[in-house]
Amino acid sequence: MNNKNGIVFGLANERSYAWYITQSLRDAGANIIFSYLPGDKNLRRLMSALKELEMEDATCIPCDVTSDEQLDDLFNKTAMIMPQLDFIVHSVAYANKEYLQIGNFHTTPRQVWAEAMDISAYSLVAIAQRAADLMTEGGSIVAMSYLGAEKVVPGYNVMGVAKAALETASRYLAGSLGYRNIRVNCISGGPLRTLSAMGVANFDRMLDCQEKYSPMQRNITGDEVGKTALFLLSPWASAITGEVIHVDAGFHTLASFPGLKEQIPCHSAIPV
Ligand code: NAD
Repeated sequence: MNNKNGIVFGLANERSYAWYITQSLRDAGANIIFSYLPGDKNLRRLMSALKELEMEDATCIPCDVTSDEQLDDLFNKTAMIMPQLDFIVHSVAYANKEYLQIGNFHTTPRQVWAEAMDISAYSLVAIAQRAADLMTEGGSIVAMSYLGAEKVVPGYNVMGVAKAALETASRYLAGSLGYRNIRVNCISGGPLRTLSAMGVANFDRMLDCQEKYSPMQRNITGDEVGKTALFLLSPWASAITGEVIHVDAGFHTLASFPGLKEQIPCHSAIPV
């Protein structure tokens, strides 16, 4: 990734998935512009996270991904600094946490649905269509997803629907941008204690279940997602597109056993 140019969306603080991805990209020699949700507090948090990474000189450009004007402004400014772009990291999501409670999915209002979809899924399309114009030598786009896109995870609710849209959008983007050698993939990451994760009602239980029942019987680290993102963004993944790679210690492979009070850990014998 030496001297490859890209934009990272969604680095909120030093616990963000985007922080770990940035760390891997930095170590591999990439040049990065950071886009953050407008706001003084958000900029302060971002600057302190970049200081930890010894990247406080990096360019940071505010952009609310729901605004076409702000996205245009971001990409116009980027084009002046990086006329040719190689990669994008999409690590952005939002849903009203009032509707991320166990058992209340059916109460989701239209506006809450639309907002979650816009910020967490459509934004990938809005970003990709602008980034593609600058990816004159091909490129790679990675977006962060979660198992709630595929299965019912209690409390994940409308965010699960948005993640399903994000994963499907990434496949359609892979379809429409592949002939330009632009690849689009998702990472489905295990639970990690970040700012956004605190909005999910069931989050501690998600961490517990992951540790107890995943084939590897442990939670994952941000660094493991960072390294997978680096791989997908690099030429090592040159023929991989439209893929969802799970970085979850195998948790997504498990079937559940409805009716049993407790899930059966993978390593124990099936009771007769
Ligand atoms: P985080 O809070 O550190 O990052 C979320 C980012 O989204 C923040 O930087 C926030 O400012 C940004 N954002 C929200 N609304 C925005 C908007 N309108 N415009 C621009 N930016 C906006 O949390 P995180 O857990 O690192 O989340 C990053 C990604 O990883 C998300 O897509 C999340 O769904 C996904 N993910 C998280 C977990 C987890 O357990 N933490 C697991 C799997 C996937």
